[in-house]
Amino acid sequence: MQLTNDEILALDRQHVWHPYSSFLNPSPTYAVASASGVTLTLADGRTLIDGMSSWWSVLHGYNHPRLNAALRNQSEAMSHVMFGGLTHEPAVSLCQQLVRLSPPGLNKVFLSDSGSVSVEVAMKMALQFWHSQGRPEKHRFVALTNGYHGDTFGAMSVCDPVTGMHHLFSRNLQQQYFATRPSSRFDAPFDESDLASIRELLATHSDIAAVILEPIVQGAGGMWMYSPEYLKAVRELCDQHQVLLIADEIATGFGRTGKLFACEHAGISPDILCLGKTLTGGYMTLAATLCNDQVSDGICRGEAGVFMHGPTFMGNPLACAVAGESIRLLLEGNWQERIGTIEAQLRRELEPCRELDRVVDVRVLGGIGVVELDQAPDMQTLQPAFVEAGIWVRPFGRLVYIMPPYVASESEISALTGGIYSVVSAL
Ligand code: PMP
Repeated sequence: MQLTNDEILALDRQHVWHPYSSFLNPSPTYAVASASGVTLTLADGRTLIDGMSSWWSVLHGYNHPRLNAALRNQSEAMSHVMFGGLTHEPAVSLCQQLVRLSPPGLNKVFLSDSGSVSVEVAMKMALQFWHSQGRPEKHRFVALTNGYHGDTFGAMSVCDPVTGMHHLFSRNLQQQYFATRPSSRFDAPFDESDLASIRELLATHSDIAAVILEPIVQGAGGMWMYSPEYLKAVRELCDQHQVLLIADEIATGFGRTGKLFACEHAGISPDILCLGKTLTGGYMTLAATLCNDQVSDGICRGEAGVFMHGPTFMGNPLACAVAGESIRLLLEGNWQERIGTIEAQLRRELEPCRELDRVVDVRVLGGIGVVELDQAPDMQTLQPAFVEAGIWVRPFGRLVYIMPPYVASESEISALTGGIYSVVSAL
């Protein structure tokens, strides 16, 4: 069956929920017919240069021959088997790669199917760990204001109660502690007073299981890039107060910030690490939660004797095979140099936006560029303006931001930054 562009959009408006959307006031939506490299081809024939990497996930561009082949070959061998009692090469090879690449000490990998679930898994690991240590009272989490960790219930409880979009569910969410996010910028001197809030929380409460944070870049909650010194100090505070550290690198993992993992900016290892999005190069839904031996030993020696989680699609061979190939592709290439070049270009070309009336800040780190506006613009006019400019940029609240696939060329990046400048200057 071949639907026309209008038919796709009409059916979409009738039946299909989009993220954070309303059927009564739908935001402008475009049907994509195909995607290749950094280009999305719409069903109406227009093409757009993609600045969003499908929300951080596409690394090597769309329709990559090596990733296509990995998926095709794996589908011919085995598309899925339930993991329990059975295992397979795509999963074990991937887990070996993850252990080798991730910050030191993270030796055990729990595979799941989405970023939010990997956060649930991380939280459950922390709770089971403290239970196993005879400290079941350590059952609450410290998260940062402006943090975002996903849309499931545990993950929602550690999102910023205001910017995290989940206040509607607050009655059903476990109450957590929130430390004020650091105000020291990534490349500015560190202000010690940034630590006051988290230091006080950790010193005052004995029921804290773990601190959970997005290292270096807070994503959906504000696109804020903070000082590595903060992260380093939080690691020390966690050790001092017998609290685990969970790093949510679902958005920052696999090079986006200029290091393979954002924790490397501070030279720290978390006790538990969440990965997702980019893990499969944006091809399949897959996430991973890694933990160190202390956590896994504790859990396995504890009352339950097992870790209590087991999603049906964990370790899906298609997803694992494409993830393995995506990581090989990344490591074989010159990703660090590419990200460095993209970073320099984003700095050069987004900086002029600072002079625009509506712009209050411009921030760049690695392959991420952010233009912060004074207030949220009207998406009904803004989104079509970006599409008219031939680029796919999806603003969120006051933030106009891009994180293009690493393979984006200089001219593709210029199209994105030039489009942002002209659209924002017309606001
Ligand atoms: N943590 C972070 C830092 C994220 O950016 C996201 C996704 N935006 C999630 C968790 C949730 O991941 P998913 O959408 O795959 O559930």
